[in-house]
Amino acid sequence: MTDQRQQAEKTQQGPIRMHDPAPMPVVGEAGVVERDGRKALIDRFGRHIDYVRLSVTDRCDFRCVYCMTEDMQFLPRKQILSLEEIHRVARSFTELGVDKLRITGGEPMVRNNVMSLFRDLGALPGLRELLLTTNGNQLQKFAQPLRDAGVNRINISIDSLDAERFARISRVGKLENVLKGIEAARQAGFERIKLNAVIMRGYNDDEVLGLTRFALDRGIDIAFIEEMPLGESSDHEREDTLCSNDWVREQIEAEYSLLPSAATTAGPSRYYQVPGHDSRIGFISPVSHNFCGDCNRVRVTVEGRLLLCLGNEHSVDLREVLRDEQADDAVLRDRIVKAMDIKPMRHHFYNPEHAQPIRLMNMTGG
Ligand code: SAM
Ligand code: SF4
Repeated sequence: MTDQRQQAEKTQQGPIRMHDPAPMPVVGEAGVVERDGRKALIDRFGRHIDYVRLSVTDRCDFRCVYCMTEDMQFLPRKQILSLEEIHRVARSFTELGVDKLRITGGEPMVRNNVMSLFRDLGALPGLRELLLTTNGNQLQKFAQPLRDAGVNRINISIDSLDAERFARISRVGKLENVLKGIEAARQAGFERIKLNAVIMRGYNDDEVLGLTRFALDRGIDIAFIEEMPLGESSDHEREDTLCSNDWVREQIEAEYSLLPSAATTAGPSRYYQVPGHDSRIGFISPVSHNFCGDCNRVRVTVEGRLLLCLGNEHSVDLREVLRDEQADDAVLRDRIVKAMDIKPMRHHFYNPEHAQPIRLMNMTGG
């Protein structure tokens, strides 16, 4: 094990255990197959890709310390996909059997006229779930229209329940707006609401139980996320703040019993329930646990780059096809299917033997 990796492990509350499964074999060519009477997009490791995260902007009304630099430069308008182009990408994926779309960013709700996109996506045939990840800052205004447009579930990021700390972590955010946004979401009738909290040593690691109680009291879900080394942080050394979810879970288990929940989905998260409560408690552990074997997702950046893995640079340009007047939807679908051939087996966060992503999270689509 390298020095840097050891350093990352040492900075935990106790040593961080890396749970690393054996490499997966290549089982065949990537492509589209028929499964249970439906199309299924398959990569060369046999993973079924049925979930796409679409970024609709790299901009945001916050500047969270783990996500952006303070003096972030945003993309010029002509480089970003129009709402029509984003809709065309979404439709092509659903035609290939993808039935779950998450809208993300940057902050999706700062994109001009984004509600028209939600309404169009909500009407896509074949879509089973339309989801949103937001910082909650504008939910007082948009929660009900989002639900009416067909958004099934919503994730709201909140890293602290202390106003000053919240402002420190988000650099500019107001906790009060987000709390009101959460209430507006509760009134709007989403199927589920989940809070997302990135726990950082020295920033909010003493709020694990407070955030858990907040979610339990409201019957909403909460997921704790390990900070990923996506781009360089201008605020802190990521190895110094990295907090293992094994440790976060121990904090919760000191007060509550956690029983595995049937809600666990493919990907880096595992869910639990506290007896007597509706809430699910999730641990999104892409650093300490490698669940790449059941990864079911890809991302599309707002520049139209199809990212095959959050922790690798492997990508394919869809914008070129979208803006080629000779290229119809069949060409676009073909490019998506061929891209499955380069979906990497796994990521290697904090491992200097492997290149770390240089994209910040707002450029990636969280
Ligand atoms: N603006 C929206 C929000 O904050 O929910 C959506 C985009 S944001 C990039 C999506 C999620 O990524 C948020 O929950 C955020 O906390 C998380 N995130 C951002 N940078 C991260 C990092 N370096 N490591 C882990 N999670 C990160
Ligand atoms: Fe904005 Fe979300 Fe990134 Fe925070 S995590 S800066 S809210 S995009």
